Amino acid sequence: MQKIHGIHATIDRSLCVGSGPCFVLAPQAFGLDQSMKAEVLEPEEESEERLLAAAQECPTQAIYLWRNGDSLYP
Ligand code: SF4
Repeated sequence: MQKIHGIHATIDRSLCVGSGPCFVLAPQAFGLDQSMKAEVLEPEEESEERLLAAAQECPTQAIYLWRNGDSLYP
């Protein structure tokens, strides 16, 4: 699928506690791997609103969003 919003996501896995809610709010963008840490899946499959909500609701502020190389969140 063609990217519309152009948002790229990264996760600081050293901060991730595997609790959600990222993979609940944006399940196509984030998942849990076998070590119970969040991993980035397909951010372009989720809306900008869902990606922002996932990042904002992360209890450890482990999610970073980027667009065109610029920080979008935090
Ligand atoms: S919301 Fe944050 S701490 Fe929770 S699983 Fe996602 S990245 Fe990890």
